Amino acid sequence: MRLRRYIEATMRYDYILVGGGAAGRSLALHLAHSPLAARRMLIIDPQPKTENDRTWCFWAPDPTLYEPIIHRRWNTLNFISDDLALELDISPYEYRVIRGIDFYRFTTEQLTRCGVEFLQERVDAISEAEGTVTVSAGGREYHADWAFDSRWDAVPYHGGVGGSAGSGATSARAASDSGAATGRDALAANVPDPRYHYLQQHFLGWVIRTEQPCFDTSRATLFDLRTPQNGIFRFVYTLPFSETEAMCEYTIFSADLLPPHEYRNALADYIQTCVGAAHSAANGSAGGRSARKRSAVDEGAAIRYRIVEEEACVIPMTDEPFPRRGGNRVMRIGTRGGRVKASSGYAFLRIQRDSAAIVRSLLETGQPFHGLVPPRRYNTFDSMLLQILHRNGDLGKRVFTDLFQKNPVQRIFRFLDEEGSLSENLALMATVPWWPFIRAWLKLRLGGRV
Ligand SMILES: Cc1cc2nc3c(=O)[nH]c(=O)nc-3n(C[C@H](O)[C@H](O)[C@H](O)COP(=O)(O)OP(=O)(O)OC[C@H]3O[C@@H](n4cnc5c(N)ncnc54)[C@H](O)[C@@H]3O)c2cc1C
Repeated sequence: MRLRRYIEATMRYDYILVGGGAAGRSLALHLAHSPLAARRMLIIDPQPKTENDRTWCFWAPDPTLYEPIIHRRWNTLNFISDDLALELDISPYEYRVIRGIDFYRFTTEQLTRCGVEFLQERVDAISEAEGTVTVSAGGREYHADWAFDSRWDAVPYHGGVGGSAGSGATSARAASDSGAATGRDALAANVPDPRYHYLQQHFLGWVIRTEQPCFDTSRATLFDLRTPQNGIFRFVYTLPFSETEAMCEYTIFSADLLPPHEYRNALADYIQTCVGAAHSAANGSAGGRSARKRSAVDEGAAIRYRIVEEEACVIPMTDEPFPRRGGNRVMRIGTRGGRVKASSGYAFLRIQRDSAAIVRSLLETGQPFHGLVPPRRYNTFDSMLLQILHRNGDLGKRVFTDLFQKNPVQRIFRFLDEEGSLSENLALMATVPWWPFIRAWLKLRLGGRV
C-alpha cells in the first residue's frame, strides 16, 4: 500500500506537456522562467529530438528567450519580383533564424537544469476525473493538474476546399523525400468542412555550399517571386548563412502537392538562374544589381554547389478553428491549438506569445485558458487570402508584390502579427487588387465558398 502511494506520488506532476516540439518546450521554458519554476513538469514525446529537422525564422522587435541560439539575424530583407528588387529596412524588427537542433539542445539543457523531466514515449490517451488529468504512455499512467497537448505528426492531410478527404494525403507524403507529412488535427476526423478553406504550405529547402562566394550575408530574401507560377503561388526564400552557404527554400501555397521531382527541379533551376546569375554578377560578368539583369545567366557561369542539408514538409494553412480546449484541464497548444497563422504558416513567435500568455493566466487566475484572441477581422483577412489563393493562385504574386511595394514593411509585419489598428489594416488593404478581395469577402458573407 505504501509502495503504491509512493509510486503514485512519483507519477504526479503539476503540468504535463504532451508533445515536446516547439510548443511543448517553449511553454515549459516560459514556465521555468516564471514564478512557477518550482512546479513539477514532465514532457512526453516519442522522438529523441536529436536531428536538425527544421529551421525556424521569425521577425521580432524584442529579444526572446532564445537569444543565445539565434543562428543568424538580419535588419534588411530583399523582396524580389520580375521587375522589382526592394531592399527593406525592417528595423526595429529583426529577422532571426533558429536551427531546430540548437533549439532542442538548448531547451533540453535549460529545462533539465530546472528539474523538468523528459519521457521518450508516445502518449496513447489523455483522460480526466475528479480534477486530475491522467496521461497514458508506455503502459503507465501519469497524473497532473494540467496537461498541455501539442501532439502533432505525420498524419494524412486533405487538400482543397470541399476537396475529397485524403486527396492530399498521398501527395503530402510524396512532398518530402524524408517522408514527412502533416495533419490538420491528429485526432479529428480527417474530413474537410465546406465552410472552411484548406491550403497547404509545402516546401523543399536545401542548405547549399558553393565553391565561390555567392551570397550577400547582410540581407535575407523573404520573397523571390521570379519562379514560374503556373496558376499556383510559389516563391523562393533565401537565408544566407555565409558568403558560400545559404538555405534556399522553394515554397508553395496551394491545396494540392506536387510530385517530388518538381520541387527539386524548380529549386535547382532557381539556384542556377538567380543565385548563379548573382554570382556571375558579383564576378563582373553579368553586371548590375537589378532583378531583371540578374535573371539572365551568362553562358558557362553555372554555379557549382553541394547540398549539405534538406528540409521538406507541409504546414497546414486553414481557417478552420482549432479548439483550444481538449477538456476542462487539457489545453491544446502549438499547431494543434491553432497557433499556425492561416495565411502565412508562421507559428514560432505566436507560440512564444501564447506560452507567455498561458503563464500569465496561470499566475493571475490559476488556470491557463487566457482567452486572448485577436480581433475577428484578422480571421476574415486570412479567409479572404486563402480563398483567393485557392481560386486563382496566379494572383498571389500580384497581391504580395503590391503589398510590399506600397506599404512600409513594418505595417505588413504588424498586420501579420494581428497587431495593427483597424485604420492601419484598411490602409494596407487599400493597396492590394481590390476586386478579388471584395469578391472573396462577399462570398464569405453569403456563406458560399469557392
Ligand atoms: C519544416 C518546418 C519548418 C517550419 N519553419 C517555420 C518557420 O520558419 N517559422 C515559423 O514561424 N514556423 C515554422 N514552421 C511551423 C511551426 O513553427 C512548426 O511546425 C512548429 O514546430 C510547431 O510546433 P508544435 O509544437 O505545434 O509542433 P512540433 O514542433 O511538430 O511538435 C509536435 C510534437 O508532438 C509529438 N507527438 C506526436 N504524437 C505524439 C504522441 N502521441 N505523444 C506524444 N508526443 C507526440 C511529435 O513527436 C512532435 O515532437 C515550420 C514547420 C515545419 C514542419
